[in-house]
Amino acid sequence: MLKHFINGQWVLSESSKSVEVINPATTALLDKCPLGSAKELEQAVLAAKDAFKSWRQVPTADRIQYLFKLKVLLEEQFESLARLVTTEHGKTLLEARGSVRRGIQMVETACGMPTLLMGECFEDIAPGIDCRAVNRPMGVFGVIAPFNFPAMVPFWFWPFALACGNTVVLKPSERVPLTQVKVFELIEQAGFPKGVINMVHGGKEVVDAMCTSVDIKGVSFVGSTPVAKHVYTTATSHGKRVQALGGAKNFMVVMPDAVMDKAAATAFESITGCAGERCLAGSVVICVGQETQKIIQDMIVKRAKETVVGNGLDAHTQMGPLISQAAKDRVKDLIESALNEGAKLLVDGRLGVDDMPGYFLKPTVLTGILPHMRIAQEEVFGPVVLLAQADSLDESIAWINRSSFANTTTLFTSSGAAARKFSYEVDPSMIGINIGVPAPMAFFSFGGSKDSFFGDVKAHGAACVKFYTDTKVTVERWMSDFNVWKS
Ligand code: NAD
Repeated sequence: MLKHFINGQWVLSESSKSVEVINPATTALLDKCPLGSAKELEQAVLAAKDAFKSWRQVPTADRIQYLFKLKVLLEEQFESLARLVTTEHGKTLLEARGSVRRGIQMVETACGMPTLLMGECFEDIAPGIDCRAVNRPMGVFGVIAPFNFPAMVPFWFWPFALACGNTVVLKPSERVPLTQVKVFELIEQAGFPKGVINMVHGGKEVVDAMCTSVDIKGVSFVGSTPVAKHVYTTATSHGKRVQALGGAKNFMVVMPDAVMDKAAATAFESITGCAGERCLAGSVVICVGQETQKIIQDMIVKRAKETVVGNGLDAHTQMGPLISQAAKDRVKDLIESALNEGAKLLVDGRLGVDDMPGYFLKPTVLTGILPHMRIAQEEVFGPVVLLAQADSLDESIAWINRSSFANTTTLFTSSGAAARKFSYEVDPSMIGINIGVPAPMAFFSFGGSKDSFFGDVKAHGAACVKFYTDTKVTVERWMSDFNVWKS
């Protein structure tokens, strides 16, 4: 049974409830994750609240020394962390390495906090009166993570929150908690003061307790849209700041002037990378014109048939399994719904997987996708390419903007004018021009809009300082009767 990390100690949960952590490529039982209680969450919050009193007084330049130490340890354990991600999540080792690298980049960027945290000063806002604004840490922040990036997503938040002078309680996904246990062993080795960063395992009970705890100042959440909405409404109604990143439906448009082989390869990799289990995964490929559709379709079908699906730890594997049988059944159900609504199956990824040991699904390609279909509207979170056709860029943009989600979108083109029009007019906040997974790096903000994001300040980037601090303004005037010194 895994343990919580509270106040610098590894603590056994008192809860009788737990979930099995399964290797999705083999269905082997890896460990058990306790479903912690509201009481255990509160213990962690109190430890963090207590630690905040001294942590906020540690100079920022000293606070980041712990992050520098952690960065060294993360580099040393890079390969074992990546293997752990693959083992509990299923994505290929190459993909796992990429996600661990992204996580480390967050730590590196948070090390720049002395510059990012700097306030403002203005002399003579009125005669003899000066004004200064400092960015103050606020207290305890909660971080809640999804299953699809066991290493990376928690790093989007806690290094920045800590570097700003706050303390943190993290709840990893109960489906993939092992990577975070390993990360916390490194956090312990790096010597962060006790209580500054805590981990409580669990599910809904811990999340709800975080959203209502009187001592939590804000919550950073990543997960599905219904839970993001729930976290946003509950935590904000309890007076907290919230940034809640939700689900997605990402459209990719291929113009007739695109470099076709690169567009097809990039779109296919976007949709099937991480077995489609990422919030930036492409989903619907809208081809402008019949000829474009024919070229893209032939190339994608070929790639889909050639993709080697298997255990992500095997060097030749190009795509791993889905996270669970339930996830696999959900994707199969969506494929079935599309067929019932008139879509045509070009490659059936449901075939040839029944004798595989894990939750495998091969790449599936459907064509004839129309906006009203269920599969054209819901997040698939699986390796399903949805081919559609439009007559113009305007029609494609209209389709994208009809979606309730607005996370990311991509245009494949050689035209600067088309690219500018696209960037200017589409709703999604993360845009790719000939890029299939336009993931902003640590020093930019990450997050969508509409049903893909609830809150005001997005993840990481310089702006995250606004989320993790309160701006405190002092207006000061000093009486200048220097004669008092002379007597
Ligand atoms: P999820 O919503 O099921 O779980 C996310 C977190 O919420 C987990 O820690 C879980 O324990 C908790 N949770 C689950 N159900 C809950 C409930 N009813 N009440 C309170 N808490 C609950 O999401 P997931 O399946 O782990 O992750 C996949 C989803 O996350 C996808 O929709 C994906 O698009 C989204 N995601 C979004 C981004 C982004 O940047 N927008 C990034 C990664 C993942």
